[in-house]
Amino acid sequence: VAQRTYQADWTWYNGALRSGIRITVNDHGIITGVSTDKSDIDDVPTSEKLHSTALLPGFINAHSHAFQRGLRGLGEAFPAGTGDFWAWRAAMYELVESLTADQFGRICRCAFEEMLDAGITSVGEFHYFHHSNDAQDFSLDDVVLNAAREAGIRIVLLNAYYKTGGIDQPLTGGQRRFACESVTSFLDHFTDLQNRTAGDPNVQLGLVAHSIRAVPLEDLMDLANEAKRRNTVLHMHLEEQRQEIESCTRKYGATPLRILNENVSPGPYLTAVHCTHSIQTDLEPYIEAGGRICICPLTEGNLADGIANVPTIWGRGGQLCVGSDSNARISMQEELRWLEYVQRVHVERRGLIIDHDGNVPNALLRVATEYGARSLGLNAGSIEVGHFADFLAVDLTDRTMKGWSPDRLLGMFLLGADREAIGGVCVGGRWLRGEPKS
Ligand SMILES: [Zn+2]
Repeated sequence: VAQRTYQADWTWYNGALRSGIRITVNDHGIITGVSTDKSDIDDVPTSEKLHSTALLPGFINAHSHAFQRGLRGLGEAFPAGTGDFWAWRAAMYELVESLTADQFGRICRCAFEEMLDAGITSVGEFHYFHHSNDAQDFSLDDVVLNAAREAGIRIVLLNAYYKTGGIDQPLTGGQRRFACESVTSFLDHFTDLQNRTAGDPNVQLGLVAHSIRAVPLEDLMDLANEAKRRNTVLHMHLEEQRQEIESCTRKYGATPLRILNENVSPGPYLTAVHCTHSIQTDLEPYIEAGGRICICPLTEGNLADGIANVPTIWGRGGQLCVGSDSNARISMQEELRWLEYVQRVHVERRGLIIDHDGNVPNALLRVATEYGARSLGLNAGSIEVGHFADFLAVDLTDRTMKGWSPDRLLGMFLLGADREAIGGVCVGGRWLRGEPKS
């Protein structure tokens, strides 16, 4: 098998920036070696020396609805006064009703291209927009996968089960394009998709229960059991809005997170998305069991969701990841800044998301890489043997990085720069953005 090596000035390896690291990648795009031995680097014919570059693992976007990129810039005028999440959702449903399969595919492709521009090498696409019309044909599942293939991004298609328009409510309008008849028929379709994508190294699948609003409790329990049986991840929207918690409590006598804790045995396979209004007494047992939480700071800000209890989540050792969700803006650096800064503004303290040394940038990088990859069940998110060769090359000559030193580099890049400092993006050993300087 042909091998290729990469050597940047600095490489993020084993939780720190190190110099002289040589990475070997096979022609399947998998890392086969990470070494500090510099002696024979010049003898390897296919070696790529990446000058003025720091190599990081590519960002992992753990939660996206690519088609919502089509709403960017809309819904920001409030002539009748302020608006809320539910008015935004109505606008999103209007978009859903109007889109053809072609338009849907083009918008998804555009969102995925933009993610690559932003250094995102893997996306967890939380996909519930299944049907091209009322026929329940699931044809848009292939359209979104093809959009990712054309862009070249690695995709985990988090395929969503969506049954009701609200707790005990029928589906109406655009929601009919999300419809799943039963868990059994949905899983048949899921298995078929899994078989058809098995040979594609850039595609993986995961299961989704859309939300407590859209999935009856017994179906949620079936999906959780199935995820464990198939050894796949399960994602679910959770407690983004107070109204969801109120209607859930009315129906089941408990909050959505308590329902998860008591009915589906949370664990590392499970990611709850948002947890904006989750209370401490629900969060603690969930985190204790290994459940993961995905926060989408820019979307939650744009939609006026609220502020999650990050001090409790992070303080208890919860594994947080981030997602671009509505794709109103696509930047992992900006997501990470919002994640930390919203908390700073809220509690009037600095340094909420920190690693064991008290370092914010190191912890934030972990959120946007390692923990995102684990949430998606991907062998990615860190530069190590057996993982995909998915990299982000920081251009140390960019003006935003001027004054860098090894101990400031990550803080400068994550807190003070944006995509202008991204010199290259590599997925599975292929540079899709930027040419390595040699
Ligand atoms: Zn979402």
